[in-house]
Amino acid sequence: MKFATKAIHAGVEPDPSTGAVMTPIYQTSTYAQASPGDHKGYEYARTQNPTRHALEANLAALENGAGAICFGSGLAAMDAVLKLLNAGDEVVATNDLYGGSYRIITKIYERFGLKGHFVPMYDASKFEQYLTPKTKLIWIETPTNPMLNIVDIEAICKIARAKGILTCVDNTFASPYLQNPLDLGADLVVHSATKYLGGHSDTVLGAVVAKEQSLADQLHFIQNASGAVPGPMDCFLVLRGIKTLHLRVERACQNAEKIATYLQGHPKANNVYYPGFKDHPGHEIAKKQMRNFGAMVSFDLKRDKFEDAKKVLSRTEVFTLAESLGGVESLIGHPASMTHASIPKEERAKVGLTDSLIRLSVGVEDVDDLIQDLERAFTFL
Ligand SMILES: *Cc1c(COP(=O)(O)O)cnc(C)c1O
Repeated sequence: MKFATKAIHAGVEPDPSTGAVMTPIYQTSTYAQASPGDHKGYEYARTQNPTRHALEANLAALENGAGAICFGSGLAAMDAVLKLLNAGDEVVATNDLYGGSYRIITKIYERFGLKGHFVPMYDASKFEQYLTPKTKLIWIETPTNPMLNIVDIEAICKIARAKGILTCVDNTFASPYLQNPLDLGADLVVHSATKYLGGHSDTVLGAVVAKEQSLADQLHFIQNASGAVPGPMDCFLVLRGIKTLHLRVERACQNAEKIATYLQGHPKANNVYYPGFKDHPGHEIAKKQMRNFGAMVSFDLKRDKFEDAKKVLSRTEVFTLAESLGGVESLIGHPASMTHASIPKEERAKVGLTDSLIRLSVGVEDVDDLIQDLERAFTFL
């Protein structure tokens, strides 16, 4: 089955008890047993829930994995992956990383004896030097946030596989419609379904998809043992969001390309970061491993002043000033003061994250209105 068909149908069967075409929200904590141990495969809702099962089957199909496991948030999904490791193990992660992913490794897991290393991965030929016999997990994020750098998933996973190191790709920015890391050699894929999968900025949920059944089984064990399961209503919302994933992401990518092109020639904009540009350092790799270049665009201003960025950010009317991304509505954000404020200024500067850097999550509105909105905001500079 091709992607659009899987998005709508995979894992979803008419409800056996009523024929309901849409997966019901099984809002129950427990299930009746005819006699002790005689049940229909459902005992207690932390362990099994039919709405969650439908979503997990759907996600496994979209990422071409053996199994998917859903959690209460993207970070809870990452938490479960880290629980596959033991004290003394080391994680090597992309250096320009989602802030929460950096925080859970350094502030939580390092207290339990894990060690994190945050390294550049953009040149795979120079990557091996960061691995030690203690490296047990490589955590890849691509495209990265907010600089939109690209990591060669296939090349990094090949190096990892030769050394028996587990690989996990945070595929949140691309979504499974644009990129399937398991097909490129990764063992695990993590999603913040809060973003493109849900797609409507109305729920928080996370997922891990495993290439092999044995890893899926271990993660199911962790899901049940640690208990960070999503509620059935949230699973229903993400399942519904996924039915239009291909349509939404397709249009958002088209809009993003037009907006990036508009910004590139703009007298008020300085650098424009968008992997679809031929001179983007990761363009060729993005072309190889993604079906399109995504709908995130970052740029900074000619006059690199926070005051100038603030004027643009507070003057847009169609773009909403907010954290998060991946919804049908366009969002505008200021990484230096919002998502990446906890990273010291010198560290931010090293990766090109300037005080005037603005990040756009391009939605599916009419692109003419989006460009007009930015143009009007620029007149205040
Ligand atoms: C939002 C996000 C997360 C965390 O997901 P939550 O659902 O907010 O817990 C992880 N990785 C990336 C790339 C994200 O954008």
